[in-house]
Amino acid sequence: MIEKIVIANRGEIALRILRACREMGIKTVAVHSDADRDLKHVRLADESVCIGPAASTLSYLNVPALIAAAEVTDATAIHPGYGFLSENADFAERVEDSGFIFIGPRADTIRMMGDKITAIEAMKSAGVPTVPGSNGPLDEDDERTLRLGREIGYPVIIKAAGGGGGRGMRVVHSEAALLNAISLTQAEAGAAFGNPVVYMEKFLENPRHVEFQVLADTHGNAIHLGERDCSMQRRHQKVVEEAPAPGITEEQRERIGGRCAAACREIGYRGVGTFEFLYENGEFYFIEMNTRVQVEHPVSEMVTGVDIVKEQIRIAAGEALSYQQDDIQLRGHAIECRINAEDPDNFMPSPGDITQLHIPGGPGVRVDTHLYNGYRVPPHYDSMIGKLITHGEDRASAIARMRTALSEMVIDGIKTNIPLQERIMRDTHFADSGANIHYLEKMLGL
Ligand code: ADP
Repeated sequence: MIEKIVIANRGEIALRILRACREMGIKTVAVHSDADRDLKHVRLADESVCIGPAASTLSYLNVPALIAAAEVTDATAIHPGYGFLSENADFAERVEDSGFIFIGPRADTIRMMGDKITAIEAMKSAGVPTVPGSNGPLDEDDERTLRLGREIGYPVIIKAAGGGGGRGMRVVHSEAALLNAISLTQAEAGAAFGNPVVYMEKFLENPRHVEFQVLADTHGNAIHLGERDCSMQRRHQKVVEEAPAPGITEEQRERIGGRCAAACREIGYRGVGTFEFLYENGEFYFIEMNTRVQVEHPVSEMVTGVDIVKEQIRIAAGEALSYQQDDIQLRGHAIECRINAEDPDNFMPSPGDITQLHIPGGPGVRVDTHLYNGYRVPPHYDSMIGKLITHGEDRASAIARMRTALSEMVIDGIKTNIPLQERIMRDTHFADSGANIHYLEKMLGL
């Protein structure tokens, strides 16, 4: 069994991991930057190690410092959380080469999924539906590229194989603009990701973002926990997430979720993961796989009762999954609002001192946050300061509960996006049906 875990992250997810460890009787080591000495989980951890200055390149992304922290504390495993080094194959390799367990997939799996072209190839051969496209890199053969564009049909999207975070993509509406758009995207991708390879996909005009959560152990078992809808996005950043996705039938869930689980067995996937799809006119199109725990994992936990982080740790320890597919029954509906320290009107970050904090409660309300009264939100990191999650017997009651919870939540001293979330929860189109990925920006007049 794993005895001691280094939590190589910060904020709410570090606290989430610490809580899982405590319940499992696992000792914890918090690693933190100079600016993060006062983080809640640092105070609660069994041990803590400062790994560098505030800038994350010198601390949370500092591989030698993280390995050294695991060595000096005699830890067994390293949990990367999300963001930072969580999908860095070289880091996973360094962790395992240094004799520690990496709580995530094998390095070669992370590498395969980190390149969108190899990821799509693997999923296609495992029977997961993908977006019609070039199914491989675009090359120097302009005639072939133009023919591909005609076959796929405009609009198309040019995407960087090594892209991420919503960057390295360009939509092309006509053949006249294609070759120039490809050169531009190649140059940008080379500069931004160190990999100029690009590919072409059909551009779906009004899809929803629907993703499936999977768990796979090292004994050949893999299951899915159903899907989440994360279509409410601004600049490709998720703002609200929910489970299940509105309008997805039990048949679709079993079919697509089953394919995802089968794909995990086929590629020998280890750990928790997410298959992201665009969903349009009743069809699913795989776009990428995330090989880590996600920000929005709580909505799946609320409707299935599965503790995803505990399962993740059990898998890393070499244990078999605690559940079989038949054990997974969805109950009710869950919604998550991301709470960000930012101006709700112009989205500028708003760090500073929390002078007054009131956390909502009541049945079906969950708050994952590292905030406490007097905590200072530092300016150096992502602006997400917590997640408010509600669970209800159906979607309408989860939304009603969210409205109540948002109205109770008080975070004084800084600006937050709570007013924006209240506006979304009052929006009739959102309440009535599943919105598509453009809806939030349209609603905001962007
Ligand atoms: P990243 O790794 O940068 O997040 P993704 O491949 O997940 O890139 O795509 C991010 C977003 O870009 C999607 O959620 C969607 O909004 C848009 N997108 C990507 N591919 C397509 C496509 N083929 N058609 C329409 N929109 C797309």
